Amino acid sequence: MKPAIDSPKILIVEDEPSQMEVLDYNLVAEGFTILKAMDGDEAILLAEENAPDLVLLDWMLPSVSGIEVCRRLRKISETKSVPIIMLTARSEEDDRVRGLNIGADDYVVKPYAMKELVARINALLRRTSPGKVGEVLQYGDIRLDAESHRVTRDDQPLKLGPTEFRLLTTFLEKPGRVWSRDQLLDRVWGRDVDVDFRTVDVHVGRLRKSLTANGGDNPIRTVRGTGYALDES
Ligand code: CA
Repeated sequence: MKPAIDSPKILIVEDEPSQMEVLDYNLVAEGFTILKAMDGDEAILLAEENAPDLVLLDWMLPSVSGIEVCRRLRKISETKSVPIIMLTARSEEDDRVRGLNIGADDYVVKPYAMKELVARINALLRRTSPGKVGEVLQYGDIRLDAESHRVTRDDQPLKLGPTEFRLLTTFLEKPGRVWSRDQLLDRVWGRDVDVDFRTVDVHVGRLRKSLTANGGDNPIRTVRGTGYALDES
């Protein structure tokens, strides 16, 4: 199975089938993994279950409006920090969207150029999931180049297995954040894989070993009863 972390996962929330088709086609071509919801309730369920990296949210939806979906996503712990781009028609572009005081990160006015939308998506992902868009992640003396898959500590190259590489990417994206084993399973192994918590412990152990192979303190803190966090060494 393709690991969840390799391709950014975008949830498209759009009730018009033709619009959905255009978005789906173009964003798959850009290398994104796509989840689709035709209404607000489905969107909230999918977002909670699948932890998308970004949500493209249509403003005008039947029953639950885009604004209401945005508001609810911000209240649910699993989705409260997911980046959201609102899609609006010119006539719907009111002060709330312009000021983004509805909890969205950005908005794009229809009709938009696909190129512009993709640029906005990538700009937002570079801020929120830098490891997924080929950026260099650095924290303390640890440096990870997502494109060349190279990791160094104090300028010394380190050898990491693919799982340890994805674990470190996750830690480096949010230094200091405490990750539960469940969240790490989700991000690193993907939700559909049958892996137990001990596997997470084993790979964190291997990552620690690799990171300290040339000396230096252990930068990964065990948070008792919860999980792990990357701390400055
Ligand atoms: Ca619509």
